[in-house]
Amino acid sequence: MPQFESFIDQKRPNQILSAFLRKGNIPHALLFYGPPGVGKRTTAMLFAKACNCLHRTSEAGYRIPCGDCRSCRKIASENHPDVIYIRPAGAVIRITQIRELSATLSLKPYEAKTRAVIIADAHSMNTEAGNALLKVLEEPPDHTIIILTTDQPLDLLPTVLSRCQQIRFKPLAMNTVKNLLIDKQKVEPETAQIIATMANGSFSRAMEMSKSNWIKRRRWLLAEMRTVSQKPVGSILALAESLSKDRGFLPDAFYIINTWFRDLLVYKWSPQRIVNKDLTDSVRYDSQRLSAASLYLKIKFVQNAQKDILRNANVRLALESLMVRLSHD
Ligand SMILES: [Zn+2]
Repeated sequence: MPQFESFIDQKRPNQILSAFLRKGNIPHALLFYGPPGVGKRTTAMLFAKACNCLHRTSEAGYRIPCGDCRSCRKIASENHPDVIYIRPAGAVIRITQIRELSATLSLKPYEAKTRAVIIADAHSMNTEAGNALLKVLEEPPDHTIIILTTDQPLDLLPTVLSRCQQIRFKPLAMNTVKNLLIDKQKVEPETAQIIATMANGSFSRAMEMSKSNWIKRRRWLLAEMRTVSQKPVGSILALAESLSKDRGFLPDAFYIINTWFRDLLVYKWSPQRIVNKDLTDSVRYDSQRLSAASLYLKIKFVQNAQKDILRNANVRLALESLMVRLSHD
């Protein structure tokens, strides 16, 4: 079952959804919540398929769509008239989108047994849109399932939340992310291993990393970090400047630096728990070279700089002062 893969770690959601299908008892509204890139939308689409599949099968106790019938194909290509996708237009989901949805739902489905509405990134509904959706949820149309997906459930209106049955999605296992990278993105196994370790169980994050030269930049940044205490001030400032110019990479840079110093600290007590496993030799060397107190301090400096930047401090100045601080062993 090729479509089943990204669903594979989500055992609990899968059991719940399978039970709905088995009992023929499909709820009016579901909320899929959990970290980004763990299969919430894929699962929503699979569920829409499973509700309407003409040749649904059962595997290991789960109900899964065939992926091949007329209905499954239409849903996959987003051409099914009764499977409606709503995504943010720009940064938000607008009231006009929900009004249009409400008008569509007031009509009978064209052909589906169970009409499905998938509202992705539901937290980006503004208040008007949320209230309009609430009206729909209060008088749910027959034979229709509305699935909201979000990684920020607390940003939804509580009244909307309370109308949905909530299903939690967990981060994917590291090996799942690794295998998906190898199978679907044709990433080299060694690279896939490094990315999977650093992607926090998110496949979408891992894909971004595999496409963005992330590995190369990480290697460069860690080499810079490891030698920062030997650099003249001019080079330290130049490093800060070059990081400050690459705003898109900055959150990643912080993550990489943070994880590095954390690993040096962790290695002292639990070497098996480090994240930068491909660099174990360097981690060991630097961990022995630096005291725990000095590492705590460095981690604090990194976190403070990150906070300052989030609070709109001057990015270059914040990075300069961070790099100078990190250069003192
Ligand atoms: Zn099918």
